[in-house]
Amino acid sequence: MKTEKCYNCNEELVGEYQVMIYEPNLEFVKCCCMDCAEELKKRNEEILYDRAETVRRQSIQILKKELLTPREIIERFIKKNRYTYKVEDILNSYQDKFLKGYYVSFTMEICIENLENEIRELLKLT
Ligand SMILES: [Zn+2]
Repeated sequence: MKTEKCYNCNEELVGEYQVMIYEPNLEFVKCCCMDCAEELKKRNEEILYDRAETVRRQSIQILKKELLTPREIIERFIKKNRYTYKVEDILNSYQDKFLKGYYVSFTMEICIENLENEIRELLKLT
């Protein structure tokens, strides 16, 4: 099976964030993550603004489509950052410590910051 690559960083496409680009052609391309999508969007907005004064206020939309379940997204994030957590560790820390205002480690905080939507979905808090 052919894996699709991110237009911006050429990494495997795990999420799908569609961004409209203006160079070389007007088309939608896919990015792996919000950071890549934002980067591409910013570059293309600059191109867009250079071309036409009238569209100065126009902004490129990022269309997000998740290809993975919340659990898979959390697992990917852990692996990508080489953390040793299990998904349950993060869920427990979020529910038992973070939400109650207790101390969580710096790396746990990074996980929570990046994965809060997924965590809440798994804990059925949304
Ligand atoms: Zn990417």
